[in-house]
Amino acid sequence: MKRRAFLAAGVAAAGPAAAGPLRALAAPAPIADTIHTVRGPIDVRQMGTTLVHEHVLVDFAGAEKADRARYDAEVAFRTILPHLQDLVTRGCRTLLECTPAYLGRDPRLLRRLSEASGLQIVTNTGYYGAANDVAVPKHAYVETARQLAARWTEEFRRGIEGTGVRPGFVKIGVDAGPLSAIDRKLVEAGALCHLDTGLTLAIHTGDGTAAMEILEVLQKGGVSPEAYVWVHSQNDKEQAGRSWAAQQGSWVELDGVGSGSIGAHVEAVLDLWRRGRLDRVLVSQDAGWYHVGEAKGGTYRAHTDLFDTFLPALRARGLGDAEIQTLLVDNPARAFAVRRRPRAPSS
Ligand SMILES: [Zn+2]
Repeated sequence: MKRRAFLAAGVAAAGPAAAGPLRALAAPAPIADTIHTVRGPIDVRQMGTTLVHEHVLVDFAGAEKADRARYDAEVAFRTILPHLQDLVTRGCRTLLECTPAYLGRDPRLLRRLSEASGLQIVTNTGYYGAANDVAVPKHAYVETARQLAARWTEEFRRGIEGTGVRPGFVKIGVDAGPLSAIDRKLVEAGALCHLDTGLTLAIHTGDGTAAMEILEVLQKGGVSPEAYVWVHSQNDKEQAGRSWAAQQGSWVELDGVGSGSIGAHVEAVLDLWRRGRLDRVLVSQDAGWYHVGEAKGGTYRAHTDLFDTFLPALRARGLGDAEIQTLLVDNPARAFAVRRRPRAPSS
């Protein structure tokens, strides 16, 4: 469906009969509002100031080649740690590490960094179908969405690769819309995993068309828009699309905050604030990136622009302590609390 038609029809147009085979068999049960960090579960009220989208280490070699033997974890640890310590001195307490499996996710490294820095770090389950599917493993093409979801749910229940580290959210990537078959399957698997586990779905989107299609897939899967974080929503130049998604209950993430984009991000936040949607906005930087394959990880982008430049710029435009608290503390806790969010039967 074209975005305009979809906007006009709205998610509310479809009744319960639209629920497809993806609907979970078990009745949704309330889950305590916790999130699993790499060092164990915490109450989401302990998250404090949170960066919801950062990367400490990434390997774009491809799903069949990405391997921990390709880097020295000790060198990576020593390179990354000072950047996390810089965050702690700025009052940041929690960082969501958004690098999926087959793209450089390393739970042991993350746990070690968390222990050394004191920063609470959260990792993820799910697959990354963006960047033309470079990080999609072969089995994802032959298995069903249900089978993929079972893999991710298993990581949530038993931990990742025997480490005991459990994911705190589902991270999926898709390319620009219309969704390819594999990208659609990943989103369907995410919907199933959400209904199994209550993990929030952070979905990297190539463009606004993909973002709207994801809402349709989730709707068919019986999942509320409230379970969906529209990652990279800043790339959609239509402000109204973000506001509409927020109105449906989705989380709109403006995650490319950096020295070259402060102005655009400030305007995007102000636009949503004026529209009364600040309670659905997440901000982060998508920074870091120890690049496996480059000497000493290449150039690591600090995680501090948000605190040093972006927040002062927002304050200069009228946001106060309450609004900053909403963006950096309250919204991350509400967005990522582990809780099943089925689509309301009446919607
Ligand atoms: Zn990212």
